[in-house]
Amino acid sequence: MTCDIVWLRDDFRLDDQPAIAAVAGRPALFVYIHDQRLQNGRPLGGAAKWRLERSLASLGRRLGERGARLDVVEGEADRILLALAAAAGAERALWSRRYEADAIALDRRVKAALRERGVEAASFNGRLMREPWDLARADGRPAGTFSAFWRRHRGLGPLPAPLAAPTRLVAAPWPAEAPRRTTIEALGLTPMAPDWSGDLAQGETPGEDGARATLARFLDRGLGDYADARDRLAPAATSRLSAALRFGELSPRRPATAVEAATAADPRLAAAADKYLSELGWREFSYALLYAHPDLATRALKAEFEAFPFRDDEPGFRAWARGRTGYPVVDAGMRQLWRTGYMHNRVRMIAASFLIKHLLIDWRRGEAWFWDTLCDADPASNPASWQWVAGSGADAAPYFRIFNPVLQGERFDPDGAYVRRWVPELQRLEASFVHAPWRAPAEALARAGVILGKTYPKPIVDHDAARARALAAFAAIRRA
Ligand code: FAD
Repeated sequence: MTCDIVWLRDDFRLDDQPAIAAVAGRPALFVYIHDQRLQNGRPLGGAAKWRLERSLASLGRRLGERGARLDVVEGEADRILLALAAAAGAERALWSRRYEADAIALDRRVKAALRERGVEAASFNGRLMREPWDLARADGRPAGTFSAFWRRHRGLGPLPAPLAAPTRLVAAPWPAEAPRRTTIEALGLTPMAPDWSGDLAQGETPGEDGARATLARFLDRGLGDYADARDRLAPAATSRLSAALRFGELSPRRPATAVEAATAADPRLAAAADKYLSELGWREFSYALLYAHPDLATRALKAEFEAFPFRDDEPGFRAWARGRTGYPVVDAGMRQLWRTGYMHNRVRMIAASFLIKHLLIDWRRGEAWFWDTLCDADPASNPASWQWVAGSGADAAPYFRIFNPVLQGERFDPDGAYVRRWVPELQRLEASFVHAPWRAPAEALARAGVILGKTYPKPIVDHDAARARALAAFAAIRRA
């Protein structure tokens, strides 16, 4: 009996999954190969590993419900896939494309080797709304600004309708000669000693079912207010789908087309829908950048930033990572990240800006910290966003625009609810001081039980001095 192989990677769903749709009703092996080499040259971070385990478990259940089975193997993906294809006498091997240079190179090698052996090999778009090469300019590069990129994207017309999940799948038997299988649990993705994962993914349900339910809830209750509320820190005003998109529990075409359908039914949603779609657009822009710049996580897109006089400041980095900078909105964000593996987008911008501009610490260190601690840590969106904040990226925030963490906090968390939630030692401080406790009179601090430097840190840098230092550093690279 012949069979097909579906090689699963960051596309852990049945809905709108072209490789799985292509084998509906035919005997197939559905295989996940855990290969630590293939995350753009670095292993997955701790929080993302935790999330991966849950994504895989959910996919295993979903496949089981439709009559199929998830097989898990650990090791070098190319070697294992070729051995499996040979042992199974596979007719076809199918997968979703990847955009990291090392993964692309490996996929090309595997495709060529399979074809040489008479196995049909085909790849699909299972991760993006549109492929980077369909959006590139004549010189093969992505548009230089997001707005030009997004105009091209939208200009290609309606997205293809998402594919429905197949109703019946058929599991082929695991061949006797094939590489040895393991279990999801044996991959050791959840931390054990110590197990720090207790609060991870608060407010999220990993897996395809959870993602679909989250999307439905967002369409029902969140979309209408999205454009106005998305920057507010305390309410749950955004879709919380980033980790689901990262691991492909949801195809980006699904929220995109759902939001468009909601607008067609109620034109008052148009502005909110446009805003939401453009955020999905930033994800696509990040992937187009990663595709064009394989070293996006390690090299500044604007070459002059390679000469930026970053400082070694280990105590500063530690204070930032632990949420002990003395700037409440930064600390709240960093603690939310550590506890839950998630941080609100605006706080990501504020916290990243603080590390780079207030502390003059290299954006790559911050990117690596996020890579390790975010459940949605994404090989494209994470480095592209860090470079955007640093000023070295595509269509980046100008370097001289330096977020004032106090003003940002007061504007987007006016009653301090977000800070109070993640920085409990400031819980009882009046709203007028909660974003700048050092400005509070002694009686207000005493009433709230806050002793600066003891129960909560004093600011580790002065905002005005840090701002002046950052601008001077920037002026130095401009002169050079
Ligand atoms: P929503 O507001 O509901 O947005 C919908 C979807 O659009 C998101 O799920 C996400 O897939 C995408 N999206 C939204 N904003 C962006 C953006 N600026 N860039 C790229 N895609 C976006 N996002 C990640 O998915 N992974 C990362 O590793 C990541 N690292 C970041 C690092 C920094 C320094 C910054 C400033 C942003 C980063 N982002 C990253 C982007 C953004 O913060 C998150 O996608 C967003 O907060 C996720 O919450 P949500 O799903 O509720 O977003």
